[in-house]
Amino acid sequence: MNESGVSIRYIKGIGPARAALFERLGVLTVDDLLRYYPRGWEDRRLGRKIAAGDNSLAVLKVKIGETSFQERRGRLGVFKAEATDENGRSYTAVWFKRMAFGYDSFAQLKKSVLPGRELLLIARTDADIFGNTGPLRVEEYYEPGSPEAELHAGRIVPVYPLTDGLNAKFVRQAVHNALAQYAPSDETLPLSLLRKRHLPELGSSVRGMHFPQDDAALENARKRLAYEEFFTLACAWAIKRRQTRAQSKPQKYEVRKTLLTPFRNQLGFEFTAAQKRVINEIFSDLESARPMTRLLQGDVGSGKTVVALSALLLAAENGHQGVFMAPTEILAEQHYLTMKKFLRGLPVRFELLTSATPKAARKKILAGAADGSINMLVGTHALLEDNVAFSALRLAVIDEQHRFGVKQRAALRRKSDCADLLVMTATPIPRTLALALYGDLDISSIDELPPGRIPIQTMQLPEAAAFDKVREQLSQGRQAYIVHPVIDESKLPELKAVTAEFEELSKAVFPEFRLAMLHGRMKAAEKAGVMDAFSKGEINALVATPVIEVGIDVKNATVMLVRNAERFGLASLHQLRGRVGRGAAQSFCILSTHSKSADALSRLDTICSTSDGFKIGEADMELRGHGEFMGERQHGDSDFAAADLSRDRELLEWALADRDALFSSDPDLSAPENQAFKKRLSALYTRRWHLIDFQ
Ligand code: ADP
Ligand code: MG
Repeated sequence: MNESGVSIRYIKGIGPARAALFERLGVLTVDDLLRYYPRGWEDRRLGRKIAAGDNSLAVLKVKIGETSFQERRGRLGVFKAEATDENGRSYTAVWFKRMAFGYDSFAQLKKSVLPGRELLLIARTDADIFGNTGPLRVEEYYEPGSPEAELHAGRIVPVYPLTDGLNAKFVRQAVHNALAQYAPSDETLPLSLLRKRHLPELGSSVRGMHFPQDDAALENARKRLAYEEFFTLACAWAIKRRQTRAQSKPQKYEVRKTLLTPFRNQLGFEFTAAQKRVINEIFSDLESARPMTRLLQGDVGSGKTVVALSALLLAAENGHQGVFMAPTEILAEQHYLTMKKFLRGLPVRFELLTSATPKAARKKILAGAADGSINMLVGTHALLEDNVAFSALRLAVIDEQHRFGVKQRAALRRKSDCADLLVMTATPIPRTLALALYGDLDISSIDELPPGRIPIQTMQLPEAAAFDKVREQLSQGRQAYIVHPVIDESKLPELKAVTAEFEELSKAVFPEFRLAMLHGRMKAAEKAGVMDAFSKGEINALVATPVIEVGIDVKNATVMLVRNAERFGLASLHQLRGRVGRGAAQSFCILSTHSKSADALSRLDTICSTSDGFKIGEADMELRGHGEFMGERQHGDSDFAAADLSRDRELLEWALADRDALFSSDPDLSAPENQAFKKRLSALYTRRWHLIDFQ
């Protein structure tokens, strides 16, 4: 896009205050704004029929008849107008507003909604299948033909993700102005590709994404922009891979066994054949001259942590520092406890660093990392902060990789340019997706579980029976997780909220047992205290949100009850279930729901009938889209803005094939027809994400 780096301050109507609000949304430049795609669209075309349904949308050109105004109990005011549409049908239009003391919030209405006037109304109404509607609850009204009317009515309008202080109309106007002032004209993709794939050019695609003429135009525009995202990322990975391969790393490894042998001796179990195989793959990467970039995938409970520890110990044996990064404090804490257990007595120094680490301890740890006396540092993305410096960071392990996005990986890269990188995930990923998301990685898989695990019994039970099952396990001295989807009582009354349910469960349902609460909004120290008491068996049941989804390892916990199970995706349910069945006893996962939705019930059937992570991964992609794979969604932005991995598999295949063809004919992108694309690639992945070194 031309003018891509221009600040949004240059857009008509955006001053410093608004610019600061846009910055919160990650929108700094005109290009950012043009690529700030809508989260949805509303069909406000005139002449569309009012569909049957509560609160359905009505877009009407009307002539105003008699009006009236009423105050209700001095607090709420109602303004009413008779309105007749172009077909001669009459309606009652109503405006509700709060009455403000000493200020007539209806003044504007009384001035502009006058008998005889023509107006465009955007309203909500309850309509039945016979076409009868109730009163029109007006949300917006415009004078026909005014610039405002042209923008906000009579067309398909974009709806954007917002932030406090930026309303929908303002953002729509800003995007509209940006399109008028800085029409994206420079094509970024090689023209031959657009022709080959029958994709529209950039300018009309960006326009069509924000202000589509119709559904078909929208889908065409979205496809083109999605293809571009895939293609650009795929090319960046190809270059990254080439650059990584060309590097030779300073660190040398030799298997000395000074730490590895005592570690294996005190583990208390043998590695499975699969663990041995992947440890060999990792060690030979470490011993090779180029930096390792490997993805380790293995189902929940397959024993990835001890594999990671083996790699970290090999690094320590050779005098190198390593980090072990996890997406949540609870998980980082768990890894730290695992290290304490398995590395007891070994001459190796490891520490835990999260944003909850107290100041004094933090200072010591930073000093130890910088002077090299700390061998292994485990923590959250607090490890990536600028003031964390290492004397010789040579190995980075990232757990639950799917929770991190390009941003975090790039930050890690900057910290340790030639470091060996091992990323781990329990969310199995189809091959093409792995290529798109982790293009520069080699892949290892742990495809067997440690011996002696009894498969978890998963079942759907009504609430009372579910409580009985939990009680039966607790009475045998076992422990339980009771998982709820949200923290506070929300607008949806049927949702089980942890804080409210905790009261009920501990007083009325399980008064004879000790229950504790665990959720993401608790202070880190509180969370750690609860987890510690639970692992020591001092607490019988944890009433929790999905914060326990990853990493918790308590062998005596044999039953998990998931309430409002319909609210969870397949991959989340599978991860949650992995918190039980960690010991030798039979474990149970109980799902309870009041939902009658066919989709939800089919999801629950899938989870009850299989425990194969790969099958669940595939089913998840089909049923529910890509949420679980999109690391950055949870951090506020995603790797893809237009693409949708569950719908766009074919586009992804195209992008990968076209990428391969491009690099085999023009490996350095030096051909004139590829210059515009090269510019876009380096703007995005060199200057913005610092992922590749490419000018
Ligand atoms: P995940 O792959 O889900 O991260 P973990 O590393 O947490 O799995 O391992 C799950 C549990 O299995 C842990 O308690 C771990 O100590 C144990 N474990 C790992 N490997 C073996 C093995 N080879 N034999 C027996 N238990 C094992
Ligand atoms: Mg794990």
